[in-house]
Amino acid sequence: MTDRCPKCEAWIYSYERRHECPPLWLVKCPEYDDETWDEVYAVAAEYAAESWAEEYDADSHDMMDGETIVVVVTPHVDNPCYNTCDDGAKTFTCSGEAVPTYYSEEIVDDKDGDSDEN
Ligand SMILES: [Zn+2]
Repeated sequence: MTDRCPKCEAWIYSYERRHECPPLWLVKCPEYDDETWDEVYAVAAEYAAESWAEEYDADSHDMMDGETIVVVVTPHVDNPCYNTCDDGAKTFTCSGEAVPTYYSEEIVDDKDGDSDEN
């Protein structure tokens, strides 16, 4: 049985006896909203930036067309790194890439004639 952690939304598999959420980060994009910090669970600040960018770009896909955004990531007060990270907030440039995917499907001649028409 698989389920999602209600807190960090990571997939939890039954063989994982104990799940620990990754550290919590606060992410904001000053270019678009300098006030709102979003909470993101990630193993490191750079992955929090990536994760935020992915969600941000989900609707527009502007980043698939080469747009980059700059986000600021800082440890949440619950993050073990909060008091020990001497460098505090970090700034990341986020970009995206669409990976081309190709498909093939065999065209089978309909030997019985155009039974679909008429
Ligand atoms: Zn979790």
